[in-house]
Amino acid sequence: MIRIARAYGVKPSSFWNQFWPMADISFAIIDHGLKEGLLRLLSGKMSVSYETTANTTLLPFASADHMLLRATRLRFCPCRLAQDVTPYFRRRWQMLPMLVCEVHSILLLAACQQCRERLHPELVPIEAASIASCYRCGHDLRQSTTHPIPRSKKYERWLAFQGRLLKLMDGHTPGS
Ligand SMILES: [Zn+2]
Ligand SMILES: [Zn+2]
Repeated sequence: MIRIARAYGVKPSSFWNQFWPMADISFAIIDHGLKEGLLRLLSGKMSVSYETTANTTLLPFASADHMLLRATRLRFCPCRLAQDVTPYFRRRWQMLPMLVCEVHSILLLAACQQCRERLHPELVPIEAASIASCYRCGHDLRQSTTHPIPRSKKYERWLAFQGRLLKLMDGHTPGS
């Protein structure tokens, strides 16, 4: 949704409030709590089925334990963002148990390393090259310093657990 608004050159909150004036949309954790009405509107605008739209969010897992899934801040892997042509935040990074990037074996980050502010991609100025930057200080999130996690039994167990969760998700939509 943030990418759609930016494609029109409009601040995401202003853009979506035109269609959905009822309440402010909390973009950072939007995948958890998208209202059905907003989903239907989205699927109409993008000419894709309601099911497909719902599957891009965490809605298919609404029956799963909410405490387990709900993260309160957006996390990211800087290496993944750096590999994107158009950087975007993966759905899986919003799930509470996702602490590690399984591709790069690093801890996911949850804040700007320069000013320590949490992420708000919806507030990144339209002039910014991409949403892979800090809305407050402009720091490029792809430049974040990362530390590889040393291999241990505990880490392997955690990876296996994450892997099972991801498999569950991939059953719904691949590559998110
Ligand atoms: Zn990664
Ligand atoms: Zn910052």
